This record gives sequence, C-alpha cells and structure tokens, in this order.
Amino acid sequence: MSGFNLGLFQKNFGGNHRIAGVSINLGCTKGRGSSTRMFNYCKTHSENPSECINQFIKINNTNNSILLTNWSGNTSRQFNEIYTPKSYSELTSIVSKMTPNTPIIVKSSSYSWSPFLFTKGIYTNKNINPICINTTEYKGEITINETNQTVTCLSGTYLGELLCYLGLNGGYTLDQFPNIPFATIGGAIATCTHGSSTSVGTISELVTELWYVLPGFTEEVKVSNDLLGAYASVLGQIGIITRVTLRIIPTFWLSLNKQTITVTDLINNVSNLFDTSDYLSCYWTPNTNTVDLRQYTKISDSVTLPISLFQCKIDNKFMVYQNIQNMDAYSEAPVLDWQIGNSRHTLNESGLGECDKQSSVPTGNPEYIEVEYAFDISYLQEAINVVNDWVNNYDTQMSLGVFVRFSGEDTLPWLSNCKGIAKNVWFLIDVDKKSNYNYNFNILEKNMWQYVGARPHLGKWNNVDNNTFIEMYGSDGATFLQMANS
Ligand SMILES: Cc1cc2nc3c(=O)[nH]c(=O)nc-3n(C[C@H](O)[C@H](O)[C@H](O)COP(=O)(O)OP(=O)(O)OC[C@H]3O[C@@H](n4cnc5c(N)ncnc54)[C@H](O)[C@@H]3O)c2cc1C
Repeated sequence: MSGFNLGLFQKNFGGNHRIAGVSINLGCTKGRGSSTRMFNYCKTHSENPSECINQFIKINNTNNSILLTNWSGNTSRQFNEIYTPKSYSELTSIVSKMTPNTPIIVKSSSYSWSPFLFTKGIYTNKNINPICINTTEYKGEITINETNQTVTCLSGTYLGELLCYLGLNGGYTLDQFPNIPFATIGGAIATCTHGSSTSVGTISELVTELWYVLPGFTEEVKVSNDLLGAYASVLGQIGIITRVTLRIIPTFWLSLNKQTITVTDLINNVSNLFDTSDYLSCYWTPNTNTVDLRQYTKISDSVTLPISLFQCKIDNKFMVYQNIQNMDAYSEAPVLDWQIGNSRHTLNESGLGECDKQSSVPTGNPEYIEVEYAFDISYLQEAINVVNDWVNNYDTQMSLGVFVRFSGEDTLPWLSNCKGIAKNVWFLIDVDKKSNYNYNFNILEKNMWQYVGARPHLGKWNNVDNNTFIEMYGSDGATFLQMANS
C-alpha cells in the first residue's frame, strides 16, 4: 500500500470505514518502520493498544505519511497522525493525551474548497506538523427537545442523517439547508453554510448552544453566550466543536413557481420577490438578460397529490436525493425530499419521487472549483456588472452559469458573510479546475468586495488576507484572529 495515491484516496475518502479498515490492516501488515512508529505512539498515548490502533489511521506513502485531499483535490496535505474518533469519550481520550497547544487540523467531510482547509487550524501558527482530527465517524447522539424546539447532536453527524432523524421524530426540519447530505453539521456551522431560505442567513444562525474541546482538555467546554458567535463560525481554528444545539421548525409543504424573467425585471422587483418567497433562487448566464427564477412558498397542507419520499427516507435512514429532474427543486429547498407539493409533475410523468439515496460521499465531479459571495440585495446590478466584466476581460472558463440564491440575515456568527444584512443575494460561480482559477478568483474576490461589498463563503475558494478580513468582519474579525493566534 505504499503506493496509496491521490486517486484512490479520493475514491475512498468518503467511506470512512474503508479508510479505517485499510489503516488497521496496515497496522498489522506494513513495513516495520511504520508499525513501530504507530505502536510507540500507542504506548505513549493509550493504555489500550487495540483502541489506539483503531483510532490511529496511518497509511504510508513514500513520505511515511498520509495524503489527505479535499473533495475537489484543489488542496491537500500530508499528515503523520490522523485520528477518527467515533464517540465523545474517544475524542476526549485522544485530545486529553495531547500536550496543550498541540497544533490540530479538524477535518470532516472535506467538502470545503478553501485553500486554508489543511493549513489554518488550531495552534497551527507554530512551525510543527499538525495532527489531524477527522470527525466523519463522530456522529449521532441526536436528541430533540420539543419544549425548546431544538436538536442536539455530535458535530460529525451528516446533515442527511440529521434531517432524516428530524423528519422521522416529530416531523421537524432546519430552516436553512445546503444541498449536500454528506457534509457534517460541524463543517456546515464552521463555514456558515446556507441554502436559499429567505427567513434566515446560514445554518450557523440556528445555533443556540455549542461545546468544544482543545488539546490537553479532558472534557468539553460549553461556549459562553458572548463567544457563541465566534464558535458558530469556528472555521476549525479556535476549538474542535464536540456537539451543537440548533433551532428546529416543523416540516412543511412547498409550492414552486418557475418563470423566466428579464434581468431588469429581477433587479426592479427583487425586494418584493424576496418578501413573497420562502425560498428563492435563479440561474443567470453572464452577458444575458434573462434568469430562470424559482420561487417557493410554504403551503398549509398537501391538498392534492403530494409526492412524498418519506418511505424512501425510512428505508435508507437518510435524507435522499431525488432523480435529476427534481434536483433543481431539491437543491434550493431540501425539505422537498420530505414532501413535495402538488406544483411538481406527477410521479409517472417524470419519475419524480424515485427512492435514490446518494451512494457515497465525495465521488462527485471534482472538475471545478467554486466561489460564492453574499451581498446586500440592493447591489444586485453592481454584482452583475462585476461578473460580466470579469467574464469579458479574463479567461475565466466558467463551468456553468451563475447560481443565484437568496437568504435572510445572520445576527449570531461573527464571520458570516450575510451578518447584519436583511436581504442577501449569493452568487455561486464554478470554473474549470484546469484553468488559472487562482489568479482569476483573486481578481473577482477583490472586485466583489470593492464594488459590491460582497464577502466570500468561507468554505469555498477564498484568499482573503488578514487586513481585508478585518475590513470585512470588523472588530469580530479582529478578535477572531486574535483568538485563533493566541
Ligand atoms: C458538492 C458540494 C456542494 C456544496 N453545496 C453547498 C451549499 O449548498 N451551500 C453551502 O453553503 N456550501 C456548500 N458547499 C460547501 C461546503 O459544504 C461547506 O463549506 C462545509 O464546510 C462542508 O462541510 P464538511 O463537513 O465537508 O467540512 P470540511 O470541508 O471537512 O471542513 C470545513 C471547515 O470546517 C472546520 N470544521 C469541520 N468540523 C469541525 C468541527 N467539529 N469543529 C471545528 N471545526 C470544524 C474544518 O476545520 C474546516 O475549516 C458545497 C460543497 C461541495 C463540495
């Protein structure tokens, strides 16, 4: 297995069990050097060797370390030590044996495109190779509090599992949701992940309580109210989130209204469209003057012929993707996988409602790199101008048009790009990974900030330096950087 390569890794990356299996075999069968190192490590870090082996994932390549990469392969790092705790006691057992201030990179499903995913972590300003804590098996312990209308779970819980659990246990859901069931709740909160709900900004805004640990700690710490916003956009830099409590809402039915309108009409009516939608999004191709608008509104019941994937969800114990025809609806309003209002085609016409669980984590199509910016709805025209200019004057090689989503406001998370803005537009742009995306994205990022006041999604490509970061996030940004560097 010393030839363990990036391609294989990408294929198996989501199958945490598979990686764990490989690593355990390696512990028994690999060359003496690596096994010895692992057992030495176990001796000093654990009384229980089998527990240690199971947690200690080490796959040797020529550098005697493991190469981790993100979903799209645009960033990677070699690690000598990776732990994959499966429970709270395993996690605290691992971190409590570390010396305080040990540099750590927390990674979960690695869906982030951020170039900083494997470099900016906890105490990583030291010139020491960090230890990786992989939370993809650190999941479950989901409990719903009906009185408070909240749910609490371990931070590595997949969003899909959480949504399914909420649906099956009382008919609840989250009022903001991205379109990726295999991202973890910890990763989603850490990067202020969002969908297209107009009533809230990002998932981070739903946080009501949060706990974290640091190296050398024997127990998790509950975050105090004054720092909740910092940890609700933790970015893997000021602590390992152990568990989190989020606000929940009863699930609901939706009706979809699709129409093509001109860009001019969109700009003129955008505030009104926002006010009359529960979920809102559209597709726009640069240099064109029309958009495909999708407006979703909540309806009170399922009067006629609703399509429900409820049974599918039960069978899979997971939120399910629907077939491609329905993906557009799904992406923007994931609660649709729970129930679909009668505005959709019927099951027989298009096959909508097929039971189709997404089979594995990141076997997606990592051919593109993604950026996303959030900005005030009143700057829509300026944002369109900036993107048109960028497309026309640089060799941008966009993969698709611009996916435009809308969201409400965040007030809690310090680093949310829609904090303090009541009505937000998000521009999502993909470019070919083979293109000169770094150069082009730097130009777009600067112009979007300068002319639109748009801040980048922190789980997508972003290259913000510390000064600009403080400009963007004010005193919260400055304090966050101090916390991260202290
Ligand atoms: C195909 C695809 C679709 C996407 N769709 C959307 C979308 O619809 N909306 C959207 O907003 N984003 C979307 N994203 C972006 C992405 O989902 C988010 O950025 C999210 O962070 C990914 O979660 P993850 O579990 O993969 O986290 P990772 O990528 O593994 O980690 C992201 C960051 O979170 C930190 N982190 C993770 N877990 C913890 C923890 N327990 N404690 C402390 N820090 C932690 C890490 O250190 C890292 O800095 C998409 C990405 C892909 C690849």
